[in-house]
Amino acid sequence: SLIITDECINCDVCEPECPNEAISQGEEIYQIDPNKCTECVGHYDEPQCVQVCPVDCIPKDANHVESEDMLWVKYEKLTGNK
Ligand code: SF4
Ligand code: SF4
Repeated sequence: SLIITDECINCDVCEPECPNEAISQGEEIYQIDPNKCTECVGHYDEPQCVQVCPVDCIPKDANHVESEDMLWVKYEKLTGNK
């Protein structure tokens, strides 16, 4: 999963870009649900939120490190696609 850091300026452009609806507005900044973020695996070649974020505040989440295989499994669970 990726994570949104406190550098987030609440610009709102990432939320509609997420294919997994993993991004939502939190109490102070936007947040990513690690159970829903596939790092865009299965949908796009690049993480869409990272592509659009103007302040570059969406790194990989060190507390939710996942292999490509794990991200594919999550994608399959979320979408029902194989
Ligand atoms: Fe959503 Fe992709 Fe960003 Fe994860 S990397 S939050 S799946 S847009
Ligand atoms: Fe925050 Fe970046 Fe998303 Fe804008 S695009 S809401 S700055 S994480």
